[in-house]
Amino acid sequence: MNTISRKNKSVIVIGGGVNGLCVAYYLRKNGFEITLIDRGDITNNCSFGNMGFLSPSHFTPLASPGVISEGLKHLLSKTSPFYIKPRLNYSFMRWMLKFYKNSSYKVVDRNAPALSELLLLSRRLMNEIAEDIGDSFMMEEIGCMMMCHSKKTFDGEARVAEASKKFNLNVEILERDELQAHEPNVELDIHGAILFKDDAHIHPGKFMLAMKNYLINAGVNYQLNTTVKDFEKSVDKVTQVITDQGTFSADEIVITPGSWMPELAKKLKTKILMEGGKGYSYTYDDVKNNIKYPAILVDDRCAITPWKQSLRIGGTMEFSGLNEKVSANRMKGIYHSIKKYYPGLDIDLPPADQIWVGLRPVTPDGLPYIGRPQKWENVAFGGGHAMLGMSAGAATGLILSNIVSEQKLPMNIDHFSINRFAKTTI
Ligand SMILES: Cc1cc2nc3c(=O)[nH]c(=O)nc-3n(C[C@H](O)[C@H](O)[C@H](O)COP(=O)(O)OP(=O)(O)OC[C@H]3O[C@@H](n4cnc5c(N)ncnc54)[C@H](O)[C@@H]3O)c2cc1C
Repeated sequence: MNTISRKNKSVIVIGGGVNGLCVAYYLRKNGFEITLIDRGDITNNCSFGNMGFLSPSHFTPLASPGVISEGLKHLLSKTSPFYIKPRLNYSFMRWMLKFYKNSSYKVVDRNAPALSELLLLSRRLMNEIAEDIGDSFMMEEIGCMMMCHSKKTFDGEARVAEASKKFNLNVEILERDELQAHEPNVELDIHGAILFKDDAHIHPGKFMLAMKNYLINAGVNYQLNTTVKDFEKSVDKVTQVITDQGTFSADEIVITPGSWMPELAKKLKTKILMEGGKGYSYTYDDVKNNIKYPAILVDDRCAITPWKQSLRIGGTMEFSGLNEKVSANRMKGIYHSIKKYYPGLDIDLPPADQIWVGLRPVTPDGLPYIGRPQKWENVAFGGGHAMLGMSAGAATGLILSNIVSEQKLPMNIDHFSINRFAKTTI
């Protein structure tokens, strides 16, 4: 391991999702002593069962024109891909209002370049990580299809493809027959697709395990099945992390707890607006005549990822609070959408008791929080990437590591400020 600066300075990383593992990876390379605390064993978080897309193509933040009206349209549907449960909860209502205000063309135009830069940086870093730790996580660099069932959706996606040129992305527009030639094994029922060629995909669970094992060998100390409850503070520093397994101290604290960031931030009198956006997936182990390309089914807002013989289907964005309750009906909706686009795919309805669920950390403007909060000198936060955590985890880890080690940042992070929606005191 490369030890270049600040040897033996200690850091506690709270949260072993993709962001926590990536920041531990870069900090360890800089010679820091790391304790990584997670309340699970890192195989049961949002970073594990997702679709595994690395998506520079997703430069449009989630908060964008039409998203709220889409959610309201589906309020009463049990199978829809998008759902907002109405709740009389102050911070949820504040989040909704901010989300609505940020879903304008003006804000999206302002935020897209920063998001694109983060995604492109991360995409490059994932190749470096694969080279460094070995690619045991099935990375494939063949792009991602944006599949369109209707002509209207296809025309809309063609406009996104045009806009993507300003971020130097390579795209190919595929009419129905060209598309079918790309997927010779399975009959399709699709108008056309846009192939975003710079996208890649990995097996996220294998990536997480590869990183976990690499970090163990590199000397990272894991404190698993341990829940952080509170912090001991001095004037402007966190001095101790209080958990259900005792207290821990370090020079620096990096907080990456996914959708639970507001809970921990509140203990530090820092207001963070974030909601959990629930999604589901199911993985088939042995699919005869599998597809070749990962894809997003744009009209139906769900996704499909092949890894050799296995295949994952997933989707939904359900804002119903911080719970991991599974709605088998929504998975039914995903399954029927997949069969609509891929009638030739030989898969059965997923069994209700084997559906994976994860909570995406969603901010009101679709941009992550990365950086130091106002009050605490030795604390940094990272998270809130919504549907782009795998795509942006490596860059987020590098940025956080450079903040802690006081090195030059790889990009400007003003857009990701922790304090952009908040007064520090609640
Ligand atoms: C269906 C679905 C598909 C997706 N597909 C993609 C995709 O294809 N590409 C992509 O880029 N992104 C995708 N995402 C989004 C991505 O999974 C998330 O953005 C990402 O996993 C978030 O990572 P994280 O490290 O911030 O949080 P998490 O993975 O949620 O990790 C947070 C960790 O913090 C721990 N923690 C929380 N609170 C505490 C506490 N108090 N004490 C100790 N530990 C704590 C948790 O146990 C957890 O392990 C998808 C998400 C879903 C749901």
